[in-house]
Order: sequence, then structure tokens, then C-alpha cells
Amino acid sequence: MSCDYVALSNPGVQLLQPYQAGKPVEELERELGLDEIVKLASNENPIGPSPQVVAAVESGLAGLTRYPDSNGFSLKQRLASRFAVSPQQLTLGNGSNDLLEIVARTFLREGTEAIYSQYGFIVYPLVTRACGAQGVEVPAQEYGHDLQAMADAITDKTRVIFLANPNNPTGTHFSNQAFDAFMARVPDSVIIVLDEAYSEYAAAIDTPQGLQQLSRYPNLIVTRTFSKAYGLAALRVGFAVANPVITDLLNRVRQPFNVSSLAQLAACAALDDEAYLQRTVAVNAAGYQQLTVALDALQVDYIPSVANFITLDLKQDALPVYQALLHEGVIVRPLAVYGLPRHLRVTIGTEAENLRFVAALKKVYS
Ligand SMILES: *Cc1c(COP(=O)(O)O)cnc(C)c1O
Repeated sequence: MSCDYVALSNPGVQLLQPYQAGKPVEELERELGLDEIVKLASNENPIGPSPQVVAAVESGLAGLTRYPDSNGFSLKQRLASRFAVSPQQLTLGNGSNDLLEIVARTFLREGTEAIYSQYGFIVYPLVTRACGAQGVEVPAQEYGHDLQAMADAITDKTRVIFLANPNNPTGTHFSNQAFDAFMARVPDSVIIVLDEAYSEYAAAIDTPQGLQQLSRYPNLIVTRTFSKAYGLAALRVGFAVANPVITDLLNRVRQPFNVSSLAQLAACAALDDEAYLQRTVAVNAAGYQQLTVALDALQVDYIPSVANFITLDLKQDALPVYQALLHEGVIVRPLAVYGLPRHLRVTIGTEAENLRFVAALKKVYS
């Protein structure tokens, strides 16, 4: 090629590696000619979609020629009443990933810094660098966020701090007290993104529920998603909640039609199906129990998790084990890109899926 397009791209982009997603089932089918594959690689909901959601999506098919409601009126109304916030506090996203990027594009640029934790969600450095800002990674404490060290890392260039609670890929969480002590040290000029992609699984433990903290902190943005416990990963829908001034800024950057009409209909239906959410959380709790008992019996170490996945410490290069599991038709997630080359993350599945995983692990690793 006559032109060096890489050199022409933004310096932050030159440093990026594309996000590595969990291996799709179809890809493994093509590669190995296997069927009955179990995918426990992307923290998806294992129980299948809510029938109410399926019906809502079907009801929207006749409207495919129309653009979606750019302002998401109905979904915002439902969210506002469900979570006791106002529609002026809500930004809808094409998944919460979209919202993380919107926050970065709103507040980060060259010469500014964003802070996140070692072993934090990999999208934080991605969106930070894409905006030309400097990422500041703070060493983890027992695989989780070291909030005091993160507060210590604040400089006058800090614009955003990304916190995942519970954290992916480690399943760790922080307490209410740790969060309060942290927030007491953060100036109002630093935006705190509290990414609660897994909060539905952790509702019963001592950890901050961000939506209840918003009235205390004008600089807080809480992001939530329908991809995990609500079971809508394919449709791409999430939301951010913040004060109305910040929300207005986010909505200036947001693409006008970033959430499809089918996704909006599905999210409304999902909010109405409380039984589905309860069943999801119950299946997950039983699966955590099932898997940890089996891992203990196999003497495999893992990081205790409050989310819908468990990260195993294999104490050896995990890639050969990952590959061997693929040959058994079980897809999990290698974590070398997170700086955890000896770990594998397994999503908690149905009882049958968990059994398949345990049998495969027993066969390939012992
Ligand atoms: C899965 C995940 C998300 C977002 O997923 P979306 O499908 O884009 O909503 C955000 N944060 C964390 C920590 C996640 O694990």
C-alpha cells in the first residue's frame, strides 16, 4: 500500500488491540465439526429468553421500516418508575458498552486521564485510549479494586474513574463502607462511572447499589445493562443514570438511534417479567454452589464471585486447558489479555451445562 494508514490514525488508536469476545458457538462448530457445544464464555443468561420478551419482539416486527424512538420515551418511563429516578436522568445505550464509550467521548481527550483497576473490565482502557486520553491502571488488591489506591491516583488531569462492581473478570465487589470512604476523597470534578453490569446478582450482599447513591453524588454515573441477568445480550440495550446536567451532555454525544425499536420493546417487557429475573438469580446461586463444590472436590482454586461467573486459577498456563476444553465442546474464556494467563473464566450455566463443564475439566485437567 502506498500510504501508511496506521500512521495517519489517532495515536491512541494505534496502541489498541481489538476487543476479544468469547468464541461463538457457530465458530467452534465450523472449526471442529462438533455439536452440542456448551458456551460458558460471555456471562450470558443460560435460561433462554423470557416468553414475554419474545412476544414483545414479535409484536415489533411489523414496524421494521420505521426508525426507533430516538428518545426512548416508553422505556425511559418504565425505567424511571421501576428505579425511582426521573427520565431526565436516563441515557439509553446500545448495550452499556455504548454508554462507557459515550462517557469517554464526553469527558476524555488528549491531556486528560482516566483511572481504572488492574483486572478491571477491558473496555475501560479501550475507550480511554481511543479518545487520546491517558489510562492509569491501579494495581488490584486480592483481584479486586483497591479504592484507596485509586483515590491516591487522582491528579488534576483526572476526569473519569471507572469502577466495575461486581467486577468482570474477577467477580469481586467492594463494600458500602469502602465506597463511601472512596467517594469522600473524590472531588466533584471527577466523574465516577459505577458499572453495575452484574448488580442484579449481588443485590443481597453488602455492596453499594448505585441507583440509591445518585442523590448524594452529583459526579456519579451508574451504568446498567439488559445483557446479563435480563437475558437480552443479542439485542444490545443498557442505560446510564446520572444527574440531569451530565445526562444532557451524554445525550449530545449519543447516536440518535442507538437503541433499536425491538430492543426498546424487549427491555420494557423484561422489566415487567420480575419472575424471570428471580429465576435467573436463583439458577445462578444454585449453579455457583454446584460449581464451587465440584471445583473444591477437584482441588481447583477459584476467586470467590458474587456475579454469574467464576474465575479459576489453574496455577499453570491456562491456554492448553482452554484448547482442550474446546475439543470437549466447552467454551470458556481465557484471560491472558487481562494479565491473567493462568486463569480461566467460566460463566455459570444451567445445571446440565455446569455438569458438562465439570466433566470436561476433570478429563483435561487433573
Ligand atoms: C458485560 C459487561 C458490560 C456490558 O455489556 P453490554 O452487553 O454492552 O451491556 C459492561 N461492563 C461489564 C463489567 C461487563 O462485564
